Amino acid sequence: MDQIGDKWCLLIFQEVFWGINSFNEMKETMGVSRGVLSDRLQWLESVGCLKKAPDRKGGKRLVYHLTPKSIEIYDSALMALAWERRFFSNPELDAVELTHKSCGKVFSPQMRCRGCNWEVQAKDIEYKPGPGAARDNRDKKVRRRSSISVENVPSKRSVYRNLINIVGDRWTANVIALSFHGLRRFDQFHSELPIATNILTDRLKFLVEEGIFEKVLYLERPKRYEYRLTEKGDALYPWFVSILQWGDKWCDTPEKGKPMRLVHKPCGLTLRGQATCSECKGVLRAKDVEFSLGD
Ligand SMILES: [Zn+2]
Ligand SMILES: [Zn+2]
Repeated sequence: MDQIGDKWCLLIFQEVFWGINSFNEMKETMGVSRGVLSDRLQWLESVGCLKKAPDRKGGKRLVYHLTPKSIEIYDSALMALAWERRFFSNPELDAVELTHKSCGKVFSPQMRCRGCNWEVQAKDIEYKPGPGAARDNRDKKVRRRSSISVENVPSKRSVYRNLINIVGDRWTANVIALSFHGLRRFDQFHSELPIATNILTDRLKFLVEEGIFEKVLYLERPKRYEYRLTEKGDALYPWFVSILQWGDKWCDTPEKGKPMRLVHKPCGLTLRGQATCSECKGVLRAKDVEFSLGD
């Protein structure tokens, strides 16, 4: 998530998946400043998630293309869309239709375990340290949450903007990820993350306002609260798994191997989540999925 989890990077991928791939088109459709857009595009090129090449119409103009690495973010985009549609409703979002060409049905994406084909849920996962387990040694950074709200992005292709708004910040994403491991208290989050206390306070407040956490009193004197995932927060799990799997495959994993192993309790196997069709339960491939935005 350190590589691609920034709000603007997630928005850029969303546009490129829809075929919007020139600088000017992106700038216009995302309502982003030239400086921010060019900074993020350069970053995504430097980590191998975008490459510049002539457009397919044979022109000389250079546009941004997905790479083998970024094409695999597709699963997480499907999970993001499924979450967004479950918890939000607006005419544009409701008009989105996904058709699975293999079975011919309109479907909703679900994440299932490759081992047993059960739907993946946070409560069914056990975490074991992998061979590359280590402490988080990243620098303490105090980057502020981007003040520009994703809600103001004009693009109608931005179909999972609420998810991006919530997770598109390195700290909110990290805090939610830790809560899937059972962490609930301020001090627990603080000891696991290289984060300043005022920033952590700010992010927890934001996540409560967004309905991802419920703030629950667990001690009367002195008053102490803990942060529990709501149904809406819990349902982000497949998106996190898809990003985790992507990171294990494409980002710098320690030489020794993956830092963490997820065990799917219903089948006892190491979890490998796959994006599947709600109708035929088949695994979804990008070329078998037809998107329509209504009109
Ligand atoms: Zn399983
Ligand atoms: Zn299907």
